[in-house]
Amino acid sequence: MGAKRILEMVLSQGRTVLLEPEAYEALSSYSIPVPKYQVVTSIKEAEMASEKIGYPLVLKIVSPDIIHKSDVGGVKVDVRDVEQLRSSFDSLMADVRQKAPNARIVGVLVKEMAPKSVEVVVGMLRDPTFGPTVMFGLGGVLIEIMKDVVFRIAPVSREEALGMIVKVKGYPLLSGFRGSKPLDVEAVADLISSVSRIAVENPVIDQIDLNPVLVYERGFAVVDARIILKV
Ligand code: ADP
Ligand code: MG
Repeated sequence: MGAKRILEMVLSQGRTVLLEPEAYEALSSYSIPVPKYQVVTSIKEAEMASEKIGYPLVLKIVSPDIIHKSDVGGVKVDVRDVEQLRSSFDSLMADVRQKAPNARIVGVLVKEMAPKSVEVVVGMLRDPTFGPTVMFGLGGVLIEIMKDVVFRIAPVSREEALGMIVKVKGYPLLSGFRGSKPLDVEAVADLISSVSRIAVENPVIDQIDLNPVLVYERGFAVVDARIILKV
């Protein structure tokens, strides 16, 4: 499904926050690579999904009423085999039912586990004056404590995106620092510029938050995606 169709469908259901799988579908329709995933509604289905996706896996609750999934036990990482899949699925459902008893549950997202690496954040905010503004920063502690982020008004070309990346203070973490391998900043620049294009072409989107994105020597993995529409 194209991004426009997904956004229309979400609005027609009276929602303003895309479910995580809807956000991935919107990103995919702009040729942004996302890790393999499937939404399931039973352990049996989760087992079938695991055969397609492969271990290790991550399980995440999919609910229009849960925005911060890990706060309610709605994320189980590093699921390594079918035994762990069954027990993690059970404990995820039990935790969510206990901590968010009124949440409507659409299913469970079974997702490829992304290997650890440097974390970045790519985002978009619609500024009342400047319009869509794209954000890039180093993830985790760096963004929270150091506020190491760069903003640009969209549209942002690939070259401008590279300019944003080299501007963050933590750039050496990406370019190769004390013998660590240089990571794929070109792919991240493509990602930033694609996010900018999504924002420009879909005025109904108010906010995009890809946090974290793990960056590798080749490519990256979008670990969590939030897309919020204007009310
Ligand atoms: P929340 O709604 O709580 O922000 P996330 O989807 O961000 O939920 O998951 C919480 C954390 O779990 C992430 O920040 C990341 O550290 C880890 N995580 C989630 N999905 C994956 C994945 N596919 N691969 C690796 N780590 C993941
Ligand atoms: Mg998150």
